[in-house]
Amino acid sequence: TTTETLLEVNNIEVIYNHVILVLKGVSLKVPKGGITALLGGNGAGKTTTLKAISNLLQSERGEVTKGSIRYRGDRVQDLTPTDLVQRGVIQVMEGRHCFEHLTIEENLMTGAYTRRDGSGAVSADLEMVYNYFPRLRERRKSQAGYTSGGEQQMCAIGRALMSRPETILLDEPSMGLAPQLVEEIFGIVKDLNEREGVSFLLAEQNTNVALRFAHHGYILESGRVVMEGPAAELRENPDVKEFYLGMS
Ligand code: ATP
Repeated sequence: TTTETLLEVNNIEVIYNHVILVLKGVSLKVPKGGITALLGGNGAGKTTTLKAISNLLQSERGEVTKGSIRYRGDRVQDLTPTDLVQRGVIQVMEGRHCFEHLTIEENLMTGAYTRRDGSGAVSADLEMVYNYFPRLRERRKSQAGYTSGGEQQMCAIGRALMSRPETILLDEPSMGLAPQLVEEIFGIVKDLNEREGVSFLLAEQNTNVALRFAHHGYILESGRVVMEGPAAELRENPDVKEFYLGMS
C-alpha cells in the first residue's frame, strides 16, 4: 500500500529582512496518518519551516524566495493562514499562545471560528477535546493565564483540534515542561493520531522523546536537512546517538 502525501515542501529557501538566508533548500513530506518529526538544535530553522508552511512569515519580515509548498497537490504558498485552516492545516505555535484573559473553554471555542457546520458538531468536538484532555475539563472555567504551562500547552492543542484539522503543525510542545508532562502530552498526540487520524508535523529539540513517538524524522542543521529516515532507524543511527540523543 502506498501512503498518500498530504504536505510536500520542496527545496524552499527563506530569507528574513531581504538579506538573512535561513532556510537553504529544505524538502520534506508529511504522509497522511503519520507523525513526522522535524528535529534540530536551537536556531536550526524548525520554527521558520513551520511558519513558511502556514504562511506566518510576513509579520516577521520573512519570505519564501525559492521552492514550493503543496498540500494535497495544490500550491498553498499564497493562501492566508485562515484559508489553510479551512483546508485542514493548522499551526500550534511555540510558547502555547492561549488568550490569557479568556477561560479555557472560551479559548477552545475560539478554535471553531472557521467552521461552517452547526453548533451541535462543535459541542461534540468540545466533548472530544475534554475526553482527550481531562485536565482541560477540570479547568474549563479558569482563566487561561492562571493555569499551568502544561495546561496552556494542552489548551493550545485543544483549540487547534476545534477546527477539525487534518494536519497539525506543532511547534516545540515539550518546551519548558517537566518530563512527566512531556510524556503525557506526547501520549495524547499519539492517541489523536491513531484514533482521530490527525497527521502531525512536529518541531522538537527534544530528539529523544520525539523519535519515540514519531514515525519518521528529519534533522535540520543551519537551514538544511542533513538526515532523514524512519524514526526507529534514526534512533539507532550512531551520529544521531552521539549528537542528538546525548549517548554513544
Ligand atoms: P528554536 O528552537 O530556537 O525556535 P528553530 O530551529 O525553530 O529554533 P528558527 O526560529 O527557525 O529556528 O530560527 C532559524 C534562524 O533564523 C536563527 O538563526 C534565527 O536567529 C533566525 N531568525 C528567526 N526569526 C528571524 C527574524 N524574524 N528575523 C531575522 N532572523 C530570524
